[in-house]
Amino acid sequence: MEHKEKEIGKCPEATVTNKKVVILGGGESGSGAAILAKKQGFDVFVSDASLIREEYKVLLRKYGVAWEEGGHTLSLILGADEVIKSPGIPDKASVVRQLKAQATPVISEIEFAGRYTQAQMICITGSNGKTTTTMLTYHILKDAGLNVGLAGNVGSSLALQVAEQNFDYYVIELSSFQLDGMYDFKADIAILLNITPDHLDRYDYKMQNYIDSKMRILQNQTEADAFIYWNDDPVVSKEIEKLRPKAMLYPFSEEKKTGVRAYQAHHQIVIETLKDTFTMEEELLALTGTHNLYNSMAAGIAAKLTGIKNENIRRSLHDFQGVEHRLEKVAIVKGVEYINDSKATNVNSCWYALKSMKTKVVLILGGTDKGNDYAEIAALVKEKCRALIFMGIDNSKLHDFFDGKLACISDAGSMQEAVSQAYRVAAPGDTVLLSPCCASFDLFKNYEDRGKQFKECVGNL
Ligand code: ADP
Repeated sequence: MEHKEKEIGKCPEATVTNKKVVILGGGESGSGAAILAKKQGFDVFVSDASLIREEYKVLLRKYGVAWEEGGHTLSLILGADEVIKSPGIPDKASVVRQLKAQATPVISEIEFAGRYTQAQMICITGSNGKTTTTMLTYHILKDAGLNVGLAGNVGSSLALQVAEQNFDYYVIELSSFQLDGMYDFKADIAILLNITPDHLDRYDYKMQNYIDSKMRILQNQTEADAFIYWNDDPVVSKEIEKLRPKAMLYPFSEEKKTGVRAYQAHHQIVIETLKDTFTMEEELLALTGTHNLYNSMAAGIAAKLTGIKNENIRRSLHDFQGVEHRLEKVAIVKGVEYINDSKATNVNSCWYALKSMKTKVVLILGGTDKGNDYAEIAALVKEKCRALIFMGIDNSKLHDFFDGKLACISDAGSMQEAVSQAYRVAAPGDTVLLSPCCASFDLFKNYEDRGKQFKECVGNL
């Protein structure tokens, strides 16, 4: 049986109750959750240890939600019947520990919002590729004319959309932090792209804890649901053996293998469903590189399962504009192409970026190290890189690893310096790639700021 469509209905009517809901964190997810809770008739209070942004205060005022900022009033928080916690607040935060000690339920905004909608949920997680695949899936569904919302780490919060809109489908990017606060929520279509080490500081430095968190994407799925995953990920395969998911399985792979539902063959991507087979020339895909082949297959399977016609899927996989800061083509200057992959904040994503390069590369990398092991990219650096430019306040770990492995290595203390050095050292036909392997907080506000500065500096060449 192919994936069965769930009945689509409206948000249940609100009933006034005395239930006290406290929301920790007044950002995108928190303010959205507050509005939805208020609309459901709950007694709502938002508490944020930092300052709440003005746009969210406006929203809270509009709906008459009480809030505080710059600290937590514990007596109010500990009196809650249920707490909705922003994914940014770690479990080890004192207020969360106290709530858990007294057995107050602490859930995520997605869990909360999921209670008040009957829409089909297409949920995407993984260590890398979430945003790209989420945006691509949303693009296909939207262009095919479905009534669809975009939520999770991208777009506005699911809760606010459930409160104010009436979508039939949601495409939701889920981080492990959101999954941690999810219990009864169910993905009708779940996508798990890959699992590689990340955020281990939030998981007691235990990889299995992080894996368990990612695998929560499967929880509550039944035979009527679908699970799309990368067949060749050793971590995911092991977990599937162990967990034996109930959902229909849709593994994708680079090659045709037994049981695989999407693969690459003769320069085409092929997606096999019970209804028919979808094929598309690989060179017509908007997104390039092996990792994006996977992302396109995952989005393509999800689109097939929602019943979108092959011709529409083909068109959308072709005209997708890509996502800023992810292998984003910036400009060609004097025969050198500049690519912004600022979102590559771990070694694995840089590996995929390098792998997709067809020319010699001048690689700009560095920043705040998250316990990186550069051995993963050593062979590709040797094969593809003309030069390495270390851009960070402390480049010692990069020097310790790469010195002696490549002749041309230099240090840059700002984006301006890094781009000028890259300009000098690159030969016509090369690619200058910003794919830092690291977080950006030493020199930049965030990865977006880093990517924007790169584009500005390239623009000024
Ligand atoms: P996320 O939302 O999971 O952080 P993004 O789509 O923002 O993922 O991409 C983050 C980085 O990972 C980018 O540098 C991108 O080029 C790379 N990337 C994208 N898809 C994949 C994938 N399937 N496997 C590995 N790396 C990927």
